Amino acid sequence: MSGSKARMKAIEAITNQTAPCNVLNFHDQPADEIFGMNVFSTKVLRDRLPKNVFKSLMKTIEDRTGLAPDIADIVATAMKDWAIEKGATHYSHVFYPLTGLTAEKHDSFLVPDGQGGAIADFSGKALIQGEPDASSFPNGGLRETFEARGYTLWDVTSPAYLMENPNGRTLCIPTMFISWTGDALDKKTPVLRSMQALNKQAQRILKLFGNESGAFVASTAGPEQEYFLIDRNFFFARPDLLNAGRTLFGARPPKGQEFADQYFGSIPERVLSFMMDAERELFKLGIPVKTRHNEVAPGQYEIAPIYETANVASDHQQLVMVTLKNVARKHGMECLLHEKPFLGINGSGKHLNWSLGSATAGNLLDPGDTPHANMQFLVFCMAVVRAVHQYGGLLRASVAVASNDHRLGANEAPPAIMSVYLGDQLNDIFEQLKSGGVKSSKKASLIQLGVDTLPVLPKDAGDRNRTSPFAFTGNRFEFRAVGSTQSIAGPLVVINTMVAESLDYIATELEAMVGNNPSKLQASVTKLLSQLAKDHAAIVFNGDNYSEQWHAEAARRGLPNLKTTVDALPELTKKPVVAMFKKYSVLSKEELESRQTIYLENYVMTLKVEANLALKMGRTLIFPAAIRYQSELAKTCADLKAVGIKFDTNTLDRMTSLVKELQTTLESLESVMGAKRDDSALAEARYFRDKVLPGVLAVRKVTDQLEGLVADDLWPLPTYQEMLFIK
Ligand code: ADP
Ligand code: MG
Repeated sequence: MSGSKARMKAIEAITNQTAPCNVLNFHDQPADEIFGMNVFSTKVLRDRLPKNVFKSLMKTIEDRTGLAPDIADIVATAMKDWAIEKGATHYSHVFYPLTGLTAEKHDSFLVPDGQGGAIADFSGKALIQGEPDASSFPNGGLRETFEARGYTLWDVTSPAYLMENPNGRTLCIPTMFISWTGDALDKKTPVLRSMQALNKQAQRILKLFGNESGAFVASTAGPEQEYFLIDRNFFFARPDLLNAGRTLFGARPPKGQEFADQYFGSIPERVLSFMMDAERELFKLGIPVKTRHNEVAPGQYEIAPIYETANVASDHQQLVMVTLKNVARKHGMECLLHEKPFLGINGSGKHLNWSLGSATAGNLLDPGDTPHANMQFLVFCMAVVRAVHQYGGLLRASVAVASNDHRLGANEAPPAIMSVYLGDQLNDIFEQLKSGGVKSSKKASLIQLGVDTLPVLPKDAGDRNRTSPFAFTGNRFEFRAVGSTQSIAGPLVVINTMVAESLDYIATELEAMVGNNPSKLQASVTKLLSQLAKDHAAIVFNGDNYSEQWHAEAARRGLPNLKTTVDALPELTKKPVVAMFKKYSVLSKEELESRQTIYLENYVMTLKVEANLALKMGRTLIFPAAIRYQSELAKTCADLKAVGIKFDTNTLDRMTSLVKELQTTLESLESVMGAKRDDSALAEARYFRDKVLPGVLAVRKVTDQLEGLVADDLWPLPTYQEMLFIK
């Protein structure tokens, strides 16, 4: 069924809905009991492994030492027994190919026992390595199909878990995915490599400050996820949402988000019951989701977990996206993760909170009460500032996907210009450093409440700046340019590596300045930080990133402004970038090139699907509705004329010209798509950006005008008003 019938049916179905689906009884099992129940966690490991094996495995997980080969079989057996006791029949190596999805290949635990029966079997070898073949995943030229071997390798540092299905459970083992030559074909492998690089350089700084414990310094990540929820009946009546994840057509609703009456508003019952259900599923997987609230746009929400080690946070983030989608369906809703599902309505992002720390040193970006005296904190902080300045283009490239182009720089998300916001207190220290040395920290003042029932509250030392792409937020940096559909792995790889490079630079300088004389440390750090503050002042911006003035100012400062994905992706293979990734053994030149190719291809494919959809919907849904109405109008005019009544033909004339325009724009989009052109990946991406995307927009412009004119009962697509407000 399609067209207006589908639309009317959708509305009918929603209005007739009686009870929200999937009602849970939370009293049956309290949250603290279900938390982590489906995770092969440290606690389970401790309970089930012989002491020496447990110790050895924990050493690998915590200190990242090599896995002792003889323990794999023991761990595998414990894992299998635990999984089978909990009802699992299959295991799956889960990996993250460069398409952005999560990939799984399931194998049964059962093997024939040779006597007509079967036994459950899972060896250490099967745990450590799998060969999914998976030759159809994009590899950007890294493997030819005749040598298509790809391996999944166990990531010991990310816990295995059980995935539930009404008909059974599957043991999921997080893995890396590499080619037989050892090239990374996935998103996880470089995250692990970059964490290793970051640790190595951070240790050198810690050592200078007298911390020689060697405890692994891990980057930490807390990703906040924004998303939309709409009723599934509407979703099915919108081929664009179904196939492209965003609406290609749709006039602005008479009431949009201008009242901001949705932001942090009370959460509708149906939505809240979905959220509770999703959170419960995530709890079972040991994902510490904490925050939920309404976002700015109608129908938009946010979920945020407590931060975890970057690698685990990244795996968990994927699970959050999958779980939101699955659970929404059970509640008759669709969760839209696209960065810009609705034009003219705020889009969705994923704020990536990032820091680094270790068991002995704590959070290395925690300033304490007197940051000016906390030299170690200032060093780590300055390393981040320097890194963003040196590799701003690369950082921008890490969030470059077609869908995110609709959001960055649209006055709802930071612009494509990377800069750092330090906040009052830190900025003051930065200014002092520029002029030679630091003597004081601005004191956090007290909030004058004017209400006597509360104790006097200390004010945060710095306010927030929501417009900055990379903001210091008290004890971490928040990277706000990540798109809501994206894996956080890519941005993490870039941040970890570029900060490692800065720490390396700083450590090398300080080691030379200090030599064997630790008493020189204080003066050396002050001198170096002063120099760095001067050298990298251009990247610090505390003003309004949305303003026009900033664009001009940033250009004067020489900061790159890579507006689109096509502008940004070439950064991946720039000389300094290739050299850096090579130096820290995170990505080889070939791996970077293959990524660039795949991402450019993804860009083109995304735009191609959208263009084809626009053509199809324009021709088979919009055009028929338009001519039906046109002919109704024409008939009315003729009928009235026949009985001698003069009827104003304005509306008919407008309809006629819009119908004509619709035909022209559709035809030119089709010819743009069919034109012969240069076939390099970059040239093709440029072509799609400059010719195809505007072609789709041109069709949309006409369509959205038609929506305001055509009789409502003929209009085939659920409108913005309906999708955003009918729940
Ligand atoms: P806001 O919306 O004000 O930015 P939220 O509470 O929604 O704040 O999200 C803050 C995020 O920052 C949470 O995911 C939190 O766990 C994370 N975070 C806090 N400390 C760290 C840290 N040291 N490293 C990484 N992330 C952190
Ligand atoms: Mg938030």
